[in-house]
Amino acid sequence: RAYNFCAGPAALPEEVLTQARDEMLDWQGKGLSVMEMSHRGDAFVSIAQQAEQDLRDLMGIPDDYAVLFLQGGASSQFAGVPLNLAGPNDPVDYVNTGVWSRKAIAEAGRMADVKEVASSEDAGYTHVPDPAEWRTRPDARYLHITPNETIGGLAYSRFPEAGDVPVVADWSSAILSEPVDVSRFGMIYAGAQKNIGPAGLTIVIVRRDLIGNAREGTPAMLDYAIHDKADSMYNTPPTYAWYLAGLVFQWLKRQGGLQAMADINRRKANRLYGFIDESDFYANPVQPEYRSLMNVPFTLADDSLNSAFLEGAEARGLLNLKGHRSVGGMRASIYNAMPEAGIEALIDYMAEFEKDKG
Ligand code: PLP
Repeated sequence: RAYNFCAGPAALPEEVLTQARDEMLDWQGKGLSVMEMSHRGDAFVSIAQQAEQDLRDLMGIPDDYAVLFLQGGASSQFAGVPLNLAGPNDPVDYVNTGVWSRKAIAEAGRMADVKEVASSEDAGYTHVPDPAEWRTRPDARYLHITPNETIGGLAYSRFPEAGDVPVVADWSSAILSEPVDVSRFGMIYAGAQKNIGPAGLTIVIVRRDLIGNAREGTPAMLDYAIHDKADSMYNTPPTYAWYLAGLVFQWLKRQGGLQAMADINRRKANRLYGFIDESDFYANPVQPEYRSLMNVPFTLADDSLNSAFLEGAEARGLLNLKGHRSVGGMRASIYNAMPEAGIEALIDYMAEFEKDKG
């Protein structure tokens, strides 16, 4: 198999894909694939419950939090958050650290009184503003942050203190990459297609006292309390994606859990950033303290070599290194499923390309 550096849908662990393949035609002697099962039958309900329990174990999710397996992507939660947690003219605070924060801000702006309480836009999103300097409002219904900006490769190195205002985090591109104290957050949400499983599944982890008061007119499909009450089976859930996410959770447990993953992820990222920093040919603009462990954007000294770089990479089985269209350059997404050997193969190629063309 190639090494796939795609930002999402992203590489899945080979063991997970192999198990899914082996179980494809006949799941545990039932004579059918998980894809073909009723979501209300015993077999799928056991798969679903096990996946939820494994996620709770991995992240240490307290019992007073609902864990929802939804559809609609993280983008739907950009609307779901204000609809569930705030009234039409209520104050809601947002931190702007990149493209995904801006999208969340724009969507919420149609539904509530949004204030951008801190931003690193003027600095080209090369750092995360210090939480001590955020101009938050004590009466805000929540404070929204994006702990890992997938496009800019920018990540939080510390979080605001848990105060009276619940912190809501779009953790799409770094969930499960390291341990997190869930109790410091009112809500965490993530699209699955990076570190959880295939596209089509969205995870919402939300403190139960925050839900149940969705504003008038909220569509049922965006009402977290309705999904919680129905164990995420208010309608047909994304069953196969849920099953694959469950296989990923079991794989993570076998790796030793989130602290073990954090150690590996830090090693992988340090190796790649270290190589980039030592080179005069490759560069990453983010201040070291705020560099993402998951998404590593980099540029070549000469833009006109970009296509040659990508072609050479592809020929070696190093796929999807093109940066996001909004920023250009390159980006290596190195989620949990990227083995250390993939980082070494990338660095070998980058060194060789620099020697040839630099
Ligand atoms: N938030 C972040 C941080 C993302 O990286 C993405 C997608 O890449 C999204 C939100 C949007 O997710 P979705 O495509 O699942 O709606």
